[in-house]
Amino acid sequence: MKLTEHIKRANGKTQFSFEILPPLKGQNIQTIFTNIDPLMEFQPPFIDVTYHREEYTYKELPNGLLEKHIVRKRPGTVGICAAIQNKYKVDAIPHILCGGFDKEDTENFLIDLHFLGIDNVVALRGDAVKSETYFTPEPKGNAYAIDLVQQIEAMNQGQYLDDALENSAATDFCIGVAGYPEKHMEAPSLESDMHFLKKKIQVGGGYIVTQMFFDNQKFFDFVDKCRAAGITAPIIPGLKPIATLKQLNLIPHRFHVDLPEPLIKEVIKCKDNAAVRQVGIEWCVAQSQELINAGVPFLHYYSMGKSDNIYKVAKEVF
Ligand code: FAD
Repeated sequence: MKLTEHIKRANGKTQFSFEILPPLKGQNIQTIFTNIDPLMEFQPPFIDVTYHREEYTYKELPNGLLEKHIVRKRPGTVGICAAIQNKYKVDAIPHILCGGFDKEDTENFLIDLHFLGIDNVVALRGDAVKSETYFTPEPKGNAYAIDLVQQIEAMNQGQYLDDALENSAATDFCIGVAGYPEKHMEAPSLESDMHFLKKKIQVGGGYIVTQMFFDNQKFFDFVDKCRAAGITAPIIPGLKPIATLKQLNLIPHRFHVDLPEPLIKEVIKCKDNAAVRQVGIEWCVAQSQELINAGVPFLHYYSMGKSDNIYKVAKEVF
């Protein structure tokens, strides 16, 4: 079922959902199920599965030259989505990127999803590969999430890349897009980011999922700005309980979000990561409760492959 339909059916009640990462290559799908199993107690109508593009490694040859190798460390997004739908009977939502895909690859990826009965996707541009400073689209690929949303929406109208195709079946994807309460790192201003976010919705985006944030006021201000800009699509807050001392520096660096001073102070006081994990849980519970009171449609948790702290938050909140 489409995510927007889940929101309508809930009739104003906040629902639980979460995102998982495909396991590292070589691991078993059981690692995924072990993380999902306990969270099913909170009846998520959907589970997001991230997509990870290739990375490059360089191997030194006997002649001293370097040979480039493409490595995909976390393959299997589509297979995991199919397995989740089959095992848990809930919607699985794959993320799909511009990066690493030309339009033909994108079309084939979407055809696979359509055949599997997956009718939600989150459309993203993706980041630059580690060896490059700026994102570079594939030749004949989509450059921005807007272009990807347009391609998916064209398929929803029955338009495939090959104009000569006859009697082509229209897909029916509900398309999620990313939003950044604290601005996307490359955007020159929040206003400019908002301008392109609005376009993502205008060309076919059905809902927005936000980057993680640790200060609810930033989310509330973002929602106000979206509404003032005429964006009426549902906005789903993304939450992550902080779990290690290292994340104090890693999260702002990797995700370009600020941590509030009181949270930083509590984390610094902790003697070990078990104590940090507990602080993270308590902070996330407080954030979740305030967001529920504000009437958000979903609380969407970033599990990052480990679900014990998400379980403890959800147990307090749902
Ligand atoms: P876009 O919407 O294309 O925006 C990128 C930047 O370009 C922004 O600064 C925007 O303001 C600007 N912009 C947009 N359109 C235009 C235009 N036409 N002209 C000029 N500027 C423009 N990454 C992964 O690799 N895998 C995942 O599974 C994944 N899941 C994510 C889930 C969520 C909820 C979020 C918030 C992020 C996720 N990411 C994931 C990270 C994401 O790929 C990066 O943040 C990426 O840098 C931007 O993606 P986007 O779709 O927001 O890009």
